[in-house]
Amino acid sequence: MLDTYIEEQERVYKILKKAIVEKKTSHAYLFETNGYREVKQVAIAFAKAIFCSKSYTNDANCQTCKQCKNIDKNSFIELRIIEPDGMWIKKEQLDELQKEFSTKSLVTNKRVYIINHADKLNNSSANTILKFLEEPSDNIIAILIADNIYQIIETILSRCQIISFHRNKEIESKDIGEKISFYMCIPEGLDTNEKIEEKVEVIKKFIKTIEEKKKDMILFTQHFWHENFIGKEMNLFAFNLMIYFYRDMLAKKLNMKPFLFDNPTLESLAQSNEISQINEKLRIINHAKEDIKYNANIPLLLDKLIIELSDVY
Ligand SMILES: [Zn+2]
Repeated sequence: MLDTYIEEQERVYKILKKAIVEKKTSHAYLFETNGYREVKQVAIAFAKAIFCSKSYTNDANCQTCKQCKNIDKNSFIELRIIEPDGMWIKKEQLDELQKEFSTKSLVTNKRVYIINHADKLNNSSANTILKFLEEPSDNIIAILIADNIYQIIETILSRCQIISFHRNKEIESKDIGEKISFYMCIPEGLDTNEKIEEKVEVIKKFIKTIEEKKKDMILFTQHFWHENFIGKEMNLFAFNLMIYFYRDMLAKKLNMKPFLFDNPTLESLAQSNEISQINEKLRIINHAKEDIKYNANIPLLLDKLIIELSDVY
């Protein structure tokens, strides 16, 4: 794998190379792209290093072994790459994969599957993959690829080794609206950066108020939330923004560079929250976000969220 990426993605390179050299690969990886565009190629290169009879660790093939050549021709059956079929990665695609991988391999003792755009797993396909990950088989390696880890449900995350790629510098320098439209699924109607930034402002105010007024915030949800976020898609988007906000608060606490939100509000809230509190709040928001996916009653869910967030101490 990966000798090609030694400079651009030094840290990732070292982790993956070590896994190959020591023959200690994980059962499941989550490759967090952070906007780096060649992650799928890195995943394929990693798979090559796993399969190559010469343990060749370059991006190209070793020129001699059948495995490398077949991977290049896209005809190596022990490596499967799954891409979204339309909007989603469908359950049927994963059922098929599982069926294939449940029979004994004839060629090698390892099998690898790559799920590109793993943020496009819907409820039922996420559950299927979860079951697959819960019963790890010694010879199956999963590589999920997503732009960032917040797009992946916690139950899947907790079963994966997370490999985070260097952020894309070009995007890093853009303003918040552009960054968001690069990294997140944007609901219909938010077709300009201005409209996205309006929602960002709403979220900032919402969090600031909830942090100050605690449970009293329940009295203001109509104005602060429901008038701004209508429908499931828009609510998911809003919850993701909240998650980003608290993650950035955490970054601030850890003296790391915040990803999206770097402003006085974040600064002062970072000071008034302990790391453990921020983590707990993130857990609560993530949980609420999962409930939205399952069609929960949004006003009730929001009240519950406010109460739970206010009770974190
Ligand atoms: Zn080879």
